[in-house]
Amino acid sequence: AVSTGSLPGWGLVDELVHVVHDRYRSHDEGVVATYIPVLADADPGAFGVCVAETSGGIHEAGDTGVDFSVQSISKAFVYALVCEALGHEAVRERVGVNNTGLGFSSVMALELNEGHPMNPMVNAGALATTAMMPGSSFAEQWENVRTGLSRFAGRQLALDGEVYRSESATNMRNKAIARLLQSYGRIDLDPLGVVDVYTRQCSLLVTARDLAVMGATLADGGVNPLTGDRVVSGQVCRDTLAVLASTGMYERSGEWLFEIGLPAKSGVSGGIVAVAPGKGAIGTFSPRLDPAGNSVRGQRATGYLSRALGLNVFASA
Ligand code: GLU
Repeated sequence: AVSTGSLPGWGLVDELVHVVHDRYRSHDEGVVATYIPVLADADPGAFGVCVAETSGGIHEAGDTGVDFSVQSISKAFVYALVCEALGHEAVRERVGVNNTGLGFSSVMALELNEGHPMNPMVNAGALATTAMMPGSSFAEQWENVRTGLSRFAGRQLALDGEVYRSESATNMRNKAIARLLQSYGRIDLDPLGVVDVYTRQCSLLVTARDLAVMGATLADGGVNPLTGDRVVSGQVCRDTLAVLASTGMYERSGEWLFEIGLPAKSGVSGGIVAVAPGKGAIGTFSPRLDPAGNSVRGQRATGYLSRALGLNVFASA
């Protein structure tokens, strides 16, 4: 039996991470995202699995050192930084915490809710959140995003210029959403400037290992278990994980919570981070996605580890 307070012993976690990588690496369902042109070049065979413990232990198998753009996973960590800066109430009022039930770049969701973005994990809410980042210019906001996400990862994260340019040239929908938000008074800054900071944040390069460490920081009450740096407060971790539980896996968030039982966030480049509060986090990378935008192998691997390590947050027996 697995104890409830922490992960099982070092050897077992290490073994399971390798077992899960072996078990799913030949699965080839799902397709690589192409709506951001450069993402189509991703290696569909890449697959990495990493568990980071709140005690600082790291367990990894496969392509855990391969860089990819963080994409929507950035939304979770920018949200935490904005909660830390502005507080629970301000963010809840402006961005919201309810699932839209619609796709992540839905304009309909925004219109149906009279311009309220509903939650920070859809593009409308993420743009509203990025607009709230501290900083007196877009350059300063961007620097604060990069520094903040780097503190979560415990190392300096770099921008992938090719991804940034590719998305900047094709993100008309995000620009339209930002204009709509402006029309509803949900962002006060120049909408195209906000989209630019958001596009940069999505283009930051991470690895599956970084995702695990970033998630473990949320699992550890806001302290990075590798560097000892306090990035955000424990209250902010609770707020962020609650939002991820209801909205982190696109319109499949309910199914994910039902099957896997962990707050998590995925992105269209193939990353997933899943957080086990108090224990640690799982970071996976595999670019083949299901129709909602969630990595197929990442979901399988995370599900297996959640069951085998007894991580489901709803389990009492
Ligand atoms: N940068 C992407 C976009 O805004 C992120 C999408 C995602 O990972 O869900 O379309």
